[in-house]
Amino acid sequence: MEKTFYIETFGCQMNVHDTEKVTGTLVQQGFRQVDTIEEASHVFYNTCSIRDKAEQKVFNRLQHSKRDAAKGKVFAVIGCVAQQEGQKIFDRAPHVSLVAGSASYARLPEMLVQLEAGNKRVTGLAFDATEAFDTPFTRRDNPHRAYLTIIEGCDKACSYCVVPFTRGPERSRTSASVIDEAKRLADSGYTEIQLLGQNVNSYRDPSRDSWDFATLLDAVGRVPGIRRVRFTTSHPRDFHKPIIDAIDANPNLCNHVHLPVQSGSTKVLDAMRRLYTREQYMERIEWMRNAKRPIAITSDIIVGFPGETEDDFQATLDLLEEVQYESIFSFKYSPRPNTASLTLGDQIPDEEKTRRIMMVQERQRAIQAKRNVSLVGTIEEVNVEAYHEAAGQWMGRTSRNRTINFRHANDDGSRLIGTYMHVRVTGAGPSSLSGEGLSEQPLLGESVAPDAEGISSSARVM
Ligand code: SF4
Repeated sequence: MEKTFYIETFGCQMNVHDTEKVTGTLVQQGFRQVDTIEEASHVFYNTCSIRDKAEQKVFNRLQHSKRDAAKGKVFAVIGCVAQQEGQKIFDRAPHVSLVAGSASYARLPEMLVQLEAGNKRVTGLAFDATEAFDTPFTRRDNPHRAYLTIIEGCDKACSYCVVPFTRGPERSRTSASVIDEAKRLADSGYTEIQLLGQNVNSYRDPSRDSWDFATLLDAVGRVPGIRRVRFTTSHPRDFHKPIIDAIDANPNLCNHVHLPVQSGSTKVLDAMRRLYTREQYMERIEWMRNAKRPIAITSDIIVGFPGETEDDFQATLDLLEEVQYESIFSFKYSPRPNTASLTLGDQIPDEEKTRRIMMVQERQRAIQAKRNVSLVGTIEEVNVEAYHEAAGQWMGRTSRNRTINFRHANDDGSRLIGTYMHVRVTGAGPSSLSGEGLSEQPLLGESVAPDAEGISSSARVM
């Protein structure tokens, strides 16, 4: 019987990229990817446990799959929920056959053999990997922009976060293997690379070269053929000035930094064990403001952390005004298993968290609306990512990670996708920009210059 698989991904870009690696490994093992659960012999859920809601979604999916499992379909739970819950998943969903965390993906072929041999309880839960999971079989979805993992795991211990438990301690890849992969990607036609890690700033080359993150970032940006390099996520404590110096010196490094602050109150940051104060965070913002080209700054905010008073919350709102973020992701605090903040209880009622998150989003929307209006009339260089036929519009992304929907006169279907071109911004809402394409021909061979007016980025509130 043909082996087919369906895979659904929850959570962050690390998980999205893990799915690309798992997909490549499965294809290499003779599986064919299909678009629906019905067509699949094997169903993989690549899970996220950062918030209770994401975790519940997976168990809801599994609830509805018992009948399919009885007919012989194989169900696998991989990723963070798998690592966090381990064998307990077999108790909650006895029809699941494979439970594996991300540190065990290198053993996937071996685990598949066990499944094929009829083993109904296959697990990969050890943190035995000494390196980040790196595979030549990665099956990338986007033909122009590629994710590239440089570090996995996290050595921080933020009191609300499950990641150190689900992804294990930090493991950096060697700079040589990262640069080799970047060159392979450039040779395959990719022009944009996004470096990934839970905390990319703490990257430490395990080889004798001992590169730090700023050195690696600059080197990836100098790989011939690569025109844009992004990175996520940054931890403010490890975000050092040389990163800004690298962005200043190398126009291929996108002028966008996602620097999650989580709270504007030093007291709450301390309870979160974030290892920086509001003042230290603002010092990093100052570095970016003093950069030679304007850098778009985005962030994550958590509201309703245990003990967050009205004054603490007000400090977060004030910080939004002070920084003027391009966009933010905002979340209500969600107690997670094994974390230190669990002992603090869930002190802020959900209605109050809802009030606070709505205020944060409303404030941010007003900031974005003002920023976006100021962009009308400017010219941005975009990498064209998609064409929306129904709207007759293209979608492109600027170096500052701002998306713009635009019309272009002389196009013929998909020829612009993957190219770089100039777009004049003609309209702005709180969370979107629209424009018109200017270049008659795509700017294929040009090196990337900083955005013309230097003020743009994603307009998402969350
Ligand atoms: S830095 Fe903190 S929030 Fe980020 S992954 Fe590590 S423990 Fe979690």
